[in-house]
Parts: sequence; C-alpha cells; structure tokens
Amino acid sequence: MISLPSRDFLDTPIEEFIISSEKVAHVQLGNSAEHALLVLTKTGYSAIPVLDPKYRFCGLINAQRITDAILGLEHIEYERLPDIKVDEIMQTDLPLINITERFQRALDLLIDQNFLCVVDAEGMFMGILTRRVILKQLKKQIYQLRK
Ligand code: AMP
Repeated sequence: MISLPSRDFLDTPIEEFIISSEKVAHVQLGNSAEHALLVLTKTGYSAIPVLDPKYRFCGLINAQRITDAILGLEHIEYERLPDIKVDEIMQTDLPLINITERFQRALDLLIDQNFLCVVDAEGMFMGILTRRVILKQLKKQIYQLRK
C-alpha cells in the first residue's frame, strides 16, 4: 500500500517548483495573433502567457483560440492574422496561483490545468507551475515513503 505524502510536503511553498518568468516564453498586449502563432509554433508550447509592458499577467493565448478567430465559412482566413491583437482573443477566465501558496493548492488546481500562471499580490507575473513538475515531486515523495 502507498502511504499518503506527509503534511509537511503538502505545505511546501510552490516558489521552489516554479519555472521563473525570465525562462517563460510569452507575448505582450498589443502583439498580433500572427506573432503569437509564430512563438507558439517555434517553441512547441500549447499555450503561453500574455503580459502587459509592466510584466503583469493578462491572459493566455493558444493556437486553438487563434485558429478559431480566423475561421471563415469556407476556409481559414490567414490573411487576417496580422490585424487581430492577442488582447481580443486571449483567455482570461482561468485560475491563477499566488506565489505564496503551498503545494496542496497547486495539486488541486493542476487536476484541471496543464500548467498554472503564478502571480504576486500585485498581479505581477512570477512564472509558471507545470503539472509535469508537480507530478515529478509527488513521484519523488511517494518513492521516498516506500523506502
Ligand atoms: P510541459 O510540462 O513542459 O510539457 O509544459 C506544459 C505546458 O506549459 C506547455 O505546453 C506550455 O504551454 C507551458 N510551458 C512550459 N514551459 C514553458 C516555458 N518555458 N515557456 C512558456 N510556456 C511553457
């Protein structure tokens, strides 16, 4: 039988596990959908944050939202890509996690999200927390408990 991870572990601050903002590919408010699609395609990431010039978190953009925005009745209207701003099509209704939160809160939220955007009290973008990183930590903990 596998023992449950210890309380201490679940209380670990998430700050230890985040990919910090300077390593996260992002686009800025005002960038075109064409630019966002280029970044998404080049990096291979499924979604990336949209930030304002002060590095505050504004939303997420992904290829599906971009394609959806240029879907015509007969064909995909690629020529519209430069005229659409990420601001118009980014996703804003998503859960954020504060940098001061603990592992358990991240675990709860990552059931439904591939990754979480991490902000501070002023909404400044601090980085992301991925399901992959959290699962790795959980695996490590479970293996240690079995020893
Ligand atoms: P991964 O767990 O590495 O597969 O990452 C899951 C998702 O998190 C990716 O598809 C991206 O949407 C996002 N992601 C991970 N690392 C980065 C990064 N360095 N910059 C931007 N987005 C990232």
